[in-house]
Amino acid sequence: MKALVKSKPEAGLWMHDMPVPEIGPDDVLIKINKTGICGTDVHIWNWDDWAQKTVPVPLVTGHEFAGQIAELGRDVKDLQLGQRVSGEGHLIGYKSRQSRSGKFHLDPETRGIGVNEQGAFANYLRLPAFNVVPLPDQISDDIGAILDPLGNAVHTALSFDLIGEDVLITGAGPIGIMAAAVARHVGARHVVITDINQTRLDLAAQVADVVAVNVAEQDLAQVSQSLGMTEGFDVGLEMSGNQRAMDQMIEALVMGGRIALLGIPPGNSPVNWSRIVFKAITIKGVYGREIFETWYKMIAMLQNGLNVTKVITHRFKAADFVQGFDIMRSGQSGKVVLDWT
Ligand code: NAD
Ligand code: ZN
Repeated sequence: MKALVKSKPEAGLWMHDMPVPEIGPDDVLIKINKTGICGTDVHIWNWDDWAQKTVPVPLVTGHEFAGQIAELGRDVKDLQLGQRVSGEGHLIGYKSRQSRSGKFHLDPETRGIGVNEQGAFANYLRLPAFNVVPLPDQISDDIGAILDPLGNAVHTALSFDLIGEDVLITGAGPIGIMAAAVARHVGARHVVITDINQTRLDLAAQVADVVAVNVAEQDLAQVSQSLGMTEGFDVGLEMSGNQRAMDQMIEALVMGGRIALLGIPPGNSPVNWSRIVFKAITIKGVYGREIFETWYKMIAMLQNGLNVTKVITHRFKAADFVQGFDIMRSGQSGKVVLDWT
């Protein structure tokens, strides 16, 4: 099979012929149809410090996928050959207290496909049947291939009650944009999204009914006043990993506001703790998706009017992956989807 491999400890990814993975009794083999390129894959391509410390070489990369079941392990029940599926890319352990009490997304032994284990940028993926999520007919392979980042957006957005609340999202990357669509879908009042990249703000306004603010040019406080917010935003969803965005969010929040933090700041970013204390702000760190509660919620929302299709701005054949990674790196894209069929 063809696979996009980190085969040398240097910048780049290479398309190689690899053996089709062998599956165990509790696994399935998935024939991959579509995959999404993630910011994580760009880190792995760039071979930055994090990637060098984390990623074994050689490794088949990629963790956002949709496909169909090509082979069933001996002990797998309740899944069928040919069934359309996506799946959770975090492979969990079963020893920890969190895992044994059903909080699978908090298991400290979690390993990621395409990061620590062989991944989905390939014609075939081996996945534990436990991780498989069947796709209903209404959900296309394109959307199936971005359920992983949509899940990040849903997990973060549903961290706090958003009904009737004023929500600030910092960072209009694909995940911030999808979080804005979710906040709108579940009944927030005002949804404001910020970025310094106008292309992405324009995309946000196309995908969701939001107020998109370029904080390099516009004053966020003035925008919130013009919307009639006198005391500030109730909930903040941090989706940029940028220090200035975080500082701006803390200032823009109401007393007692709540922040869900998905963005990953580089290194040790300074935090103005006294502002957080005196504003009585609650902060929740968000990692991955809730396994499998987030999957149930997002599929239900997609079946009931949540539409994030336009966040996919570029589609390439897998063989043209270099173009896909180039456009990802340019910052001039939403999600980029590769076709393996
Ligand atoms: P992305 O890098 O595509 O988007 C981040 C956006 O933030 C960019 O558009 C950038 O222009 C914008 N930005 C930069 N400075 C800003 C500022 N001062 N104010 C507002 N916006 C600013 O990322 P993504 O793929 O959408 O992911 C969002 C974040 O979530 C990233 O930090 C990513 O690493 C992180 N992430 C975390 C998890 C997790 O499990 N916690 C999972 C996936 C992604
Ligand atoms: Zn991802």
